[in-house]
Amino acid sequence: MKYLVAGAAGFIGSHLCERLVEQGHEVAGVDNFITGDRRNLASLEGHARFRLVEHDVIEPLQWAGRLDGIYNLASPASPKDYLEHPIETLRVGSEGTRNLLELALRHGARFLLASTSECYGDPLEHPQVETYWGNVNPVGPRSCYDESKRYAEAVTMAYHRKHGVRTNIARIFNTYGPRMKLDDGRIVPAFVDQALRKRPMTVYGDGSQTRSFCYVSDLVEGLTRLAESDERDPVNLGNPAEMTVLAFAEKIRAMAGSSSEIEYHPLPQDDPQRRKPDIAKARRLLGWQPEVGLEDGLRRTMEYFRTKLRAG
Ligand code: NAD
Ligand code: UDP
Repeated sequence: MKYLVAGAAGFIGSHLCERLVEQGHEVAGVDNFITGDRRNLASLEGHARFRLVEHDVIEPLQWAGRLDGIYNLASPASPKDYLEHPIETLRVGSEGTRNLLELALRHGARFLLASTSECYGDPLEHPQVETYWGNVNPVGPRSCYDESKRYAEAVTMAYHRKHGVRTNIARIFNTYGPRMKLDDGRIVPAFVDQALRKRPMTVYGDGSQTRSFCYVSDLVEGLTRLAESDERDPVNLGNPAEMTVLAFAEKIRAMAGSSSEIEYHPLPQDDPQRRKPDIAKARRLLGWQPEVGLEDGLRRTMEYFRTKLRAG
């Protein structure tokens, strides 16, 4: 199959490209490098079935020849990144997603949208089931990301309903692993970096808010299975093992054998209090569930960051 992966040079995108090439597919990675890094794709450089195209998907794409499927992962994803690039984030979710849907329509290609648990906002239902409509502040600082993704879901459904495009929507919950940026501000790189360098660990609020962490290889497996399915409505992909932010800090500190102090900082506005995916739908439809436990995933991630830090 011939795939286009938008957001290929990012954390998840680079792992997805590797997986698709391993499976024997031909892949064109597209990225404008706003938050990604071409070094994430070093293992595919010069590969006969892979090429990387520098392009901003808010501009229409020209594509000659066959195209079987599109994965749309293009978007700043960490709160630090999307707060720094709010307009770009809104444009890539809206104009970028529509451009890629047009491309899918013209080529009869399948289309998968990487959506997010942020569509549930600060959820009033727990755990989050796909049928929950969410609790999103439409004008708060996170709205540039949340509303961009909610629009992206809406336009994806519209292209399916109006034009019959074979679409899928993955609602991805917090995912971690090698190739996250050390300084992207998300909890895993922040805490691992701080623990390894014996710096204070910056817990926001009192640390009682929860998240559920999925290792990247599990997520990629879920994405590829979903892209082959005929499910059009959103499907949660994440690991339901939920823990508080404070317990997570303590876990990373212990695994790193670190003496870092816990340092409390103000909770960012609209930071969701609880988040845990209900993955019954993914289990039933895709036969998918996460396989990598937290310790195992964190060990692999810490190894990656250790090497990065050693390399300066
Ligand atoms: P990332 O920032 O590492 O990757 C995103 C990639 O998209 C980057 O390489 C960036 O340069 C590229 N990009 C952004 N705007 C673009 C544009 N206009 N044109 C072309 N490329 C563009 O983030 P990630 O964590 O790998 O996330 C990938 C996708 O998964 C995102 O859409 C994100 O919203 C979604 N997601 C991720 C998580 C997570 O926990 N990592 C959770 C929910 C959803
Ligand atoms: N967090 C924290 N300290 C940090 C970074 C994040 O306490 O240095 C908290 C943040 O407030 C949130 C959780 O960790 O409650 C997850 O944050 P992240 O930015 O990774 O992703 P989010 O799930 O908020 O999009």
